[in-house]
Amino acid sequence: MPPLILDGKKLSSLVEQDLSMRVAGLKARTGRTPILATILVGDDPASATYVKMKGNACRRIGMESLSVPMPSTTTTEELLARIDALNADPLVQGILLQHPVPHQIDERLCFDAISIEKDVDGVTCLGFGRMSMGEAAYGSATPQGIMTILQHYGIELEGKHAVVVGRSPILGKPMALMLLAANATVTVCHSRTRDLAGHVGRADIIVGAVGKPEFIKAEWIKDGAVVVDAGYHPGGVGDIELSALGERISAVTPVPGGVGPMTIATLMTQTVMAAEKQWGAV
Ligand code: NAP
Repeated sequence: MPPLILDGKKLSSLVEQDLSMRVAGLKARTGRTPILATILVGDDPASATYVKMKGNACRRIGMESLSVPMPSTTTTEELLARIDALNADPLVQGILLQHPVPHQIDERLCFDAISIEKDVDGVTCLGFGRMSMGEAAYGSATPQGIMTILQHYGIELEGKHAVVVGRSPILGKPMALMLLAANATVTVCHSRTRDLAGHVGRADIIVGAVGKPEFIKAEWIKDGAVVVDAGYHPGGVGDIELSALGERISAVTPVPGGVGPMTIATLMTQTVMAAEKQWGAV
């Protein structure tokens, strides 16, 4: 039987339909339009594309985005000052700082300067800590989007062995804790892991978040596994060798059209939630 396609593109349009109605409701009740500020430091073309896609998504659901471009020579202090101003701006409900920022900037310090109420991309230590402890917080957008896909398609997590390859602050680490909160048994692999193939081979659910094209080989993955690929590389391949998996697996996020669209849909969802909370509309 062919694997179930965990179609993030289709799910993201359903999410956007719901958000459009919520934004229209907010406008009707408050006379205001939610605004997501998008900070782009420097001129990395991939980052510029991601920020543009996020701005387009805002417009599709009736929100506005405030574009905040900053030069590649920006210092940590200058970026902190801009974030402070956006934190204090009552017109802005959410703040996105596009990762990565140029090397001279202390990215962690800048992420953590975003106020928790406006941290709709889920990048602050405080938000991460709260999420880890099961307290209310906006989740890091990519892993939160993956959890939404798994939930929507009824993928059972409780008691399953999930293996996450990658431990970055915005993806692998929060992914592992979200799966743990859903009662999966979680193994986190990274660049110093020994016998990666062996760990991957024991996964009921495998999440590829390693940043290297087709690094996780199809032959490592066991029959019937649920395969989630967060990667996207030139040539339209992800971090997992998906094309060689055939019909052996039970479900898979396609590349493209899997995790990517749900990352943006999650950012939109959390911005609408922030507006609803800040305006006392829930
Ligand atoms: P990252 O910050 O570069 O982290 C990569 C992780 O992979 C690190 O934890 C690293 O381990 C681990 N790793 C590197 N080489 C390895 C090896 N040989 N064996 C095992 N683990 C290894 O990347 P990221 O930001 O988490 O992104 C990961 C992937 O997701 C990328 O393909 C990226 O394009 C994609 N992504 C997609 C979205 C989306 O919206 N769809 C968003 C973000 C990221 P160490 O910690 O030991 O260095």
